[in-house]
Amino acid sequence: MFDVLAYWWWLAVDWFSAHAVGPVLAFAHLDALFGEPEAIAEALLIGLVQIAIIGCLFRPLEKLAPAERWQDRRLTGVDLRFAFALVALGPLLAFVVLSPFARAFGNALDWIGLPADGLLHYIPHIDEHPYLAFALYYAANDLAYYWMHRAQHAIPWWWALHNMHHSQRQVNCWTNSRVSWLDLVLESCLLATVGLVMGVDAGQFAVLVLLTQLVQNLAHTNTRFGFGRVFDKLIVDPRFHRLHHMAADPARPNLHNCNFGQVLSIWDNLFGTALYGEPPRRNGVDDAIVDADNGRGMSVMQWYTLRRFWSAFTSRAGWKPQSIVFDTRSRSIPDGAQANPK
Ligand SMILES: [Zn+2]
Ligand SMILES: [Zn+2]
Repeated sequence: MFDVLAYWWWLAVDWFSAHAVGPVLAFAHLDALFGEPEAIAEALLIGLVQIAIIGCLFRPLEKLAPAERWQDRRLTGVDLRFAFALVALGPLLAFVVLSPFARAFGNALDWIGLPADGLLHYIPHIDEHPYLAFALYYAANDLAYYWMHRAQHAIPWWWALHNMHHSQRQVNCWTNSRVSWLDLVLESCLLATVGLVMGVDAGQFAVLVLLTQLVQNLAHTNTRFGFGRVFDKLIVDPRFHRLHHMAADPARPNLHNCNFGQVLSIWDNLFGTALYGEPPRRNGVDDAIVDADNGRGMSVMQWYTLRRFWSAFTSRAGWKPQSIVFDTRSRSIPDGAQANPK
C-alpha cells in the first residue's frame, strides 16, 4: 500500500512542482537560490493536503459529536492561522534547516568512517522486506517522539517552548499546528536524526510525515469518540490525547502527566503513563502567565514564548527537571517557590 501511496504522492509532487512552484520561483527570480523546486512542492503539498482533510473531514466531525460544547469558538481562530502559517513555513523548514542538517549529518558520518545508508541495512535481507523496514523505522521514530515529548514536559526550558501548545483552552482540529516555531525546528532535527540513523527511504519519509500529521490532527479534534478498548491501546485517539491537554488538578496533582504518545499509544502503556476512562476535563494550563496566550495573536505568542524560553534556558534551574511557572517578566520560577518566597 505504501508503495502505491508513495507513487501517487510523487506524481502529485512532480505535477505541482512543474506547474506551480517552478514557475513561481522562476517569476520571482528565486530559482537559482532554491535550486530543485520538488522539495518545496512536497512540503507545500503536505501542508495543503492536511488543511483540506482537516477542513472537509475533521471539522465536520467536531460538529457531529463534540467532546465539549463551547459557547463560541473564538479561541480556536488563532490555531487555524497557525495551520496556514505552517503551510508556508514547511518548505522553509525543509530547505533552510533540514536539507543542510541532513547534508552535515551525512558528511559527519563520512568523516568518522561510518556507512551513510543507516542501521536498518545491517539487518540481513531487510531490503527484501520494505514493509518490515518501514514498520521498524516508524516504531523507532514514534518511540523517539514519546521520550522527546516527556522531556518537553520535564525540562523547564523545553516546557517554556512547548507550553504554547498547551495554553489553548479549546483544543480543536487545528491545535496540532499551534507550536513554537523554534520548538518545531528542534523537534524536526531530532526526529530527522532518527530517520538518518535508521536509513529511511526518502519516498517513504514524505508518506510517513503526512500520515503522522493526520493522526495528530485527528487526535486534537474536539470529538468524543475513541478507537475502542483494543485499538486505543495501540493508536492515539481523540479521547486519549484530550486527556494529555487537561489542566493540572490540585486534588490529583500528577494526573495530567499522561498520554505523551504521538501516533502509537503503546509507549504510554509500556512506560506507565497511559490514562484511560477519565471523562473529558478542562483543557489548558494553570499558569496565568502562560494562559494569557489565549488573548494573543500568533506572532505575539511566538515572541512571549521565546522570552519565557530564553529566561529558562539561561538559568541553572531551567535545566533541572522540575515543574515551573513564570512571573510577569517571563522569568521562570520553580513551581511551589512562590508559596515560600525567601
Ligand atoms: Zn505535551
Ligand atoms: Zn497536543
